[in-house]
Amino acid sequence: MPARRFLPARMPRRVATISVHTSPLDQPGAGDAGGMNVYIVEVSRRLAARGIAVDVFTRATSSDLPPVVEMSPGVTVRHVSAGPFEGLGKEELPGQLCAFTAGVLREEAQHEPGHYDVVHSHYWLSGQVGWLARDRWSVPLIHTAHTLAKVKNAALADGDRPEPRARVIGEEQVVAEADRLVANTEEEARQLVEHYGADPRRTLVVPPGVDLDRFTPGDRAAARRALGVPADAVVLTFVGRIQPLKAPDLLLTTAARMLDDDPALRSRLQVHVVGAPSGSGLEAPRQLEELAASLGIADLVRFLPPQPPERLALHYRAADVAVVPSHNESFGLVALEAQACGTPVVAASVGGLRTAVRDGVSGVLVDGRDPAAYAAAVRAVLERRELMGAGARRHAAAFSWDRTADALVDAYAAAAAEMAGVARRALRPVAGVALGTQVAW
Ligand code: UDP
Repeated sequence: MPARRFLPARMPRRVATISVHTSPLDQPGAGDAGGMNVYIVEVSRRLAARGIAVDVFTRATSSDLPPVVEMSPGVTVRHVSAGPFEGLGKEELPGQLCAFTAGVLREEAQHEPGHYDVVHSHYWLSGQVGWLARDRWSVPLIHTAHTLAKVKNAALADGDRPEPRARVIGEEQVVAEADRLVANTEEEARQLVEHYGADPRRTLVVPPGVDLDRFTPGDRAAARRALGVPADAVVLTFVGRIQPLKAPDLLLTTAARMLDDDPALRSRLQVHVVGAPSGSGLEAPRQLEELAASLGIADLVRFLPPQPPERLALHYRAADVAVVPSHNESFGLVALEAQACGTPVVAASVGGLRTAVRDGVSGVLVDGRDPAAYAAAVRAVLERRELMGAGARRHAAAFSWDRTADALVDAYAAAAAEMAGVARRALRPVAGVALGTQVAW
């Protein structure tokens, strides 16, 4: 029988999840809503299914929002007033953290002491809030960074602004304060240790998951009929927030390159771009359409607004290849979702995409940013579409939100036990990270 990985007495009953800058109620694929929102929704639902109530604190961004919304059984979204509802960008939120934290502490103060057993913060802004809540409530702070400024700044797209120093400092503080740092991949764990000085004993790798009931292979022909795509079309699909970091422009230049190499493809090639502007992409919302026009492929490109998951599954299924050409990704849920739908992925060989895609089996990872290399990778996948589609499905099946939730419960329980001083066991080291002396606690 496998050893129990937590002390039942330390199982949390209620978690305060902090998501300052984006709400789990938002539709991902635009603005600040993306993979982190999906992560919080999926994990919160599964924690609730394990009998752990989740309160998600997020900033109120409209006067229409009720203060409290039950998102699903056991999962409550609490809207905290902090600054004007609308017109406040993410970069302005550091100035609202005191107001936000006050809102969180006041909500908790209405209950008996010990209301929350754990604080789980997402992204550094939330980490700052969680830090104070942890000190006030004497419960562990678990932090998931989702992205790291130092890593992002090292892989900036042309013309993209670097993340400010205040964020770097804020992240360093949260890394120093958190009782557990949750990384999506071993590479991210190493980055936390090497670039941020994280304690490897408190840094653990918990891969995100994919909803294998929603993202299923299904019937490609039926998906194409539903979307009005001809059966013989060659469809390359991008899904995600439209911003320089995600580099949808590279998909367009790749498509143009494929037509240069094989002009006969023009009658069949389609490029689908699903998502809306985000981040610095908001400053030039029509840039991609202009690029398509300047490349002479405007008639082949379909731009679609953000889609809910059921519709998204149709788009993944209808695609021959999903293309994820990002400059960097801490994971890349889109790649996993496409593969779960049986669609192979051509992705940049960067960050979490190296985990999310199994090179040569579930898709192809491309070094560098040359459209010719992407075009060659797409052709290689098209030649082995059926085999790679099966490989994609198998690879995605190794990930599950249930496993993510179980690992997080373990982390919560271990951190709580450590805080209470009752557990005496060694933490598993992060693979590949030099650990020094293991401490039993
Ligand atoms: N997404 C969506 N509808 C869209 C586009 C994206 O629901 O039209 C979701 C997608 O299913 C995925 C998430 O947004 O779960 C994007 O996550 P990813 O890790 O790929 O990128 P991030 O947004 O975190 O940078």
